[in-house]
Amino acid sequence: MKAVFVTIFPELIESFFSVGVINKALDESIINFEVVNPIKFLKNSERLDDAPYGGGPGMLFRSEPLEEAINESKKLTSSNAKVINLSPQGKKLTQEKAKKLALDKELIFVCGRYEGIDQRIIDSKIDEEISIGDYVVTGGELPALIVFESIVRNIEGVLGDINSLEEESFSQQLIEYPQYTRPEKNNLGNVPEILLSGDHKKIKTWRKKQSLGKTFLLRRDIFPKELSSDDFKLLKEFLSDLGYESDRIADLLKNINKK
Ligand code: SAM
Repeated sequence: MKAVFVTIFPELIESFFSVGVINKALDESIINFEVVNPIKFLKNSERLDDAPYGGGPGMLFRSEPLEEAINESKKLTSSNAKVINLSPQGKKLTQEKAKKLALDKELIFVCGRYEGIDQRIIDSKIDEEISIGDYVVTGGELPALIVFESIVRNIEGVLGDINSLEEESFSQQLIEYPQYTRPEKNNLGNVPEILLSGDHKKIKTWRKKQSLGKTFLLRRDIFPKELSSDDFKLLKEFLSDLGYESDRIADLLKNINKK
């Protein structure tokens, strides 16, 4: 996967690629990146930003240098590389979206600053807009890197163990179960006995129960509307282990269909 970042802060992008699994994937040529700085396309004493027509606070990236920067990025990729604008107005990033984008071979990320970019660029040069969430940050670089990292984790060879993806949060519409590492006991508490049992079947069931329970309690917004009867039973057990009365459990689960 090759990514081209259109940004006025190349150093932010470069530092991201200099550490961890991303740096390893870069060394192994699984991923590759380039940076195109729109400032390079300014003529004489031109500025990159200007005030919005109609008034209002802040400045916008002007369309001409940005268009040239996107055109240059296209020359560094094949002409059908998708151009993504990072924007709080875009579609919210999901794991599903990251997996889909991992099928692309090349992507171009446009990183705005100030109040954003001239709408004409969005209308004519951008294939999609992605938001990292319902809040606003100062520039598109961190959102672009978040989107890029969520994508490349799905590419074979980037993570040490590709299987870790299958268990991860959101991979099965559930968040991940709790995890512990050595020591078994310390002043903060004990590791649940079941995880020390060596009984892989029981551990798998315990983990599923925790994932179901945690997702139900913490992320009702993504919780499946329908459960297998085994999973339904595990969820009931989870709530009962927490001390919920059976009437309360029945009430909480009344909108979940059993398959
Ligand atoms: N005026 C814009 C608005 O209200 O929608 C916000 C501009 S923001 C201060 C500057 C840049 O940060 C944006 O052009 C975008 O690239 C990036 N940005 C800010 N929040 C973001 C988010 N939630 N998701 C993706 N990009 C974001």
